[in-house]
Amino acid sequence: MPLLARLAHSHAPSHARRPLSACPLCGATEFRPVALVASHPVVRCRSCQLQFTQPQPSDAELAAIYGPDYVLAADDTPEHAVITRAKRATADHYLDLLEAAGATPAGRLLEIGCGAGNFLLQASRRGYEVTGVEYSAYACARARQTLGGSGRVLTGEIDLIASDAGLYDVCVLCDVIEHVRQPADFLQRILGALRPGGILLVVTPSTASWSARLMGKRWMELKPEHLFYFSPTTLTRQLTGAGFAGIAHHRGIKYLSLDYVAAHFEKYPVTGIRAALRAARALTPKGWRERPRPLVASGIIAIARKPALANRSATHSP
Ligand SMILES: [Zn+2]
Repeated sequence: MPLLARLAHSHAPSHARRPLSACPLCGATEFRPVALVASHPVVRCRSCQLQFTQPQPSDAELAAIYGPDYVLAADDTPEHAVITRAKRATADHYLDLLEAAGATPAGRLLEIGCGAGNFLLQASRRGYEVTGVEYSAYACARARQTLGGSGRVLTGEIDLIASDAGLYDVCVLCDVIEHVRQPADFLQRILGALRPGGILLVVTPSTASWSARLMGKRWMELKPEHLFYFSPTTLTRQLTGAGFAGIAHHRGIKYLSLDYVAAHFEKYPVTGIRAALRAARALTPKGWRERPRPLVASGIIAIARKPALANRSATHSP
């Protein structure tokens, strides 16, 4: 599971939770409770409908969640090869969407939160010159191994690419934006790293997905480390506010196999679902269980573009 945990903090982790005095997307101050996730209340802004954890978890709470094995935990199950196969099939789907949106596979591609490097590998195979940023040193080592010498993998956070202004043709954020403390600031940094006309692909859980509507307070994406929960509407507003344009949404297809889904719910149990998946696995032939299939589960995919001409709200070029 690729992710960028948080923007860099040089001080010792604080144990204080961080209440947001206003909605970070629209500035409103009235919130409605939505769910309680392991003692963390999730609320919905009454004005723009953005959902977020309120108060936000402390640095110490997040540090405890993001242990050394967090990024690769899902890859290190006995079904490792099955999961890798599904992730690469999903990566190919995202790359197809990027090419349909006009991305040229010869360009420079940046992925923040590159995990074990499965997306970067598929991009590299198509001809992109790839750069990955990943906070977990262990995951970076795995990603370098995956890439076998092509591309570059940087250990750290988004400030590592601060000097890469206007360098990239494409940027990809898979299951990252919901983990970031300040999404607006984060997206403006991405905008700065893209060339004019460059393309951004964002994948994130969606509160408008069928699984969110069906499962309600038991939605599997409700996790303490998910700080924000977007819908197509709120994600569009967040992207537009950061200076992106031409935003298009696509169905949140991921390639999943039964074994992949079962492994996920073993790690993140939801009452009833884990038992049902165990029963389904016992009844299903191995070849069928392992084959990745396109499923619309809990996410959305947004594709946005950096305007070709300088944007007055988000460009700081000298
Ligand atoms: Zn709001």
